Amino acid sequence: MKRICFIALAIFPLFSFSQEGGMPAEFQLEKSETEAHLRFLASDELQGRRTTEPGNDIAARYIAAQFEAYGLKTAPGLDGYFQPIRFEAVTPPSAAFLTLNKTTYQQGDNLLILTGNAENLKTEAVFVNFGWVDAETGHDDYQGLDVKGKVLLALPGMPDGQDPMSVFNSMKKKRKLAQEKGAAALIELYRLQFPWAFFRSFFDKENLNFADEDSPEGPSPDIVYGWMQEEKDGNMERLKEGKKVKAELMSKGFSRRTAGSQNVIGIIEGADPKLKDEYVLLTAHYDHVGTGKNGGGMFTAQDSIFNGARDNGMGTTALISAAKALSKDRPRRSVIVLAVTGEERGLLGSKYYSEHPLIPLNKTIFNLNSDGAGYNDVSYVSVVGFGRTGTDALVEAGVNIFGLDVFPNPAPEQNLYDRSDNVSFASKGVPAIQFTPGTTGFDEEISKYYHQVTDNPDTIDYDYLHKFCQAFARTARLIADADSRPQWRKGDKYEQAGTELYQR
Ligand SMILES: [Zn+2]
Repeated sequence: MKRICFIALAIFPLFSFSQEGGMPAEFQLEKSETEAHLRFLASDELQGRRTTEPGNDIAARYIAAQFEAYGLKTAPGLDGYFQPIRFEAVTPPSAAFLTLNKTTYQQGDNLLILTGNAENLKTEAVFVNFGWVDAETGHDDYQGLDVKGKVLLALPGMPDGQDPMSVFNSMKKKRKLAQEKGAAALIELYRLQFPWAFFRSFFDKENLNFADEDSPEGPSPDIVYGWMQEEKDGNMERLKEGKKVKAELMSKGFSRRTAGSQNVIGIIEGADPKLKDEYVLLTAHYDHVGTGKNGGGMFTAQDSIFNGARDNGMGTTALISAAKALSKDRPRRSVIVLAVTGEERGLLGSKYYSEHPLIPLNKTIFNLNSDGAGYNDVSYVSVVGFGRTGTDALVEAGVNIFGLDVFPNPAPEQNLYDRSDNVSFASKGVPAIQFTPGTTGFDEEISKYYHQVTDNPDTIDYDYLHKFCQAFARTARLIADADSRPQWRKGDKYEQAGTELYQR
């Protein structure tokens, strides 16, 4: 009884009764429907929802079907609920070796070839310093060198930068320069501080990029490009003294293909004639990591499917639930419901949308993103970015009413804010927070499931999932209904971007 009075008091001042005058639709969401969504999305049949694989497409189709059932509008410029994205998938060679005089470097050991195939090429090696050319400064490491058909060895980075960022950012341009000069291969010498084995395992896997990034006419044939961990055999000294070093190179199994995926997007028009021109963006990534070796964790013959029930079946279910509740009882502002792909491959779907928004970003006043590594305390919803956007009281009201508390900013050492899709929008200036299942810190309970085959639907607390979804929908509603819009806290690292985006 006391509880009911409290509920009535809590919601009355926020004008959030449904249009029929009863309790708004998030209070009527059924536990059975949230459970059914999650059990489907995290089922074995969807094979870990890996971006560009069929299981990912099926998940997208399922989400679109819910949007259709709820009567969501399609976004301007789209025929349906899919925003298609073309990716390019690059897979490093399965086998490769490079011999310099008498020293042989082997792929998977002291050699990491990332691109290009070569069939037992016999040539010689050339040392090209950084392999850098800068038209502005006149710097040209290739001046006076004959590199046609040869294996080039280069220092990592560029003349004015050998820190990790410079090393990573210069890779593409250096490869392109070597290719333009007609070289057969460019191999960089590994000199970074972190362990070679770590570097190798980070890069030695299929890599996804946007297909149209810089060459709309498609990729040119690849030269052999990679890294080696030098042996102290005197070859580098010989090269620097201008002596000849024989090179033999083989690389096979490299592939490059284009592949598609999609974001899923639907629009709920706001009920207030003035405020409906402002949009609250709800997001959750629906992709996960796939199966077997692709999952990146331990697996067995009995279970090799990374179901991703928590990551991010729970967030996706919350998103679908909010789409239902908010389309049934429309809030004052409009709402964009966006399920993004490619999060696990580098936040790709949200980056794509932030670069190709279907509603102008300067009309998008907030991003409420649901994602999470798992949960270890079901009395909470954890909120990453709590305290930063002026929405704390609304978030607390949305969460408390379902008997949950807010746990602010868990595991600060994990830098969670900048590791999920909300950062794609925050970095453009849109105030954003991450709505996460109850996590008080990264402990054993989290690591037991996080990116593991054990993150399957039989291990989920469905009473909690139900409340989590209701709280997400409720929080979205309170923000979409509030008189004032969210604002970055003074001095926030994204405040300046916000000022530029909204021109205020
Ligand atoms: Zn995730």
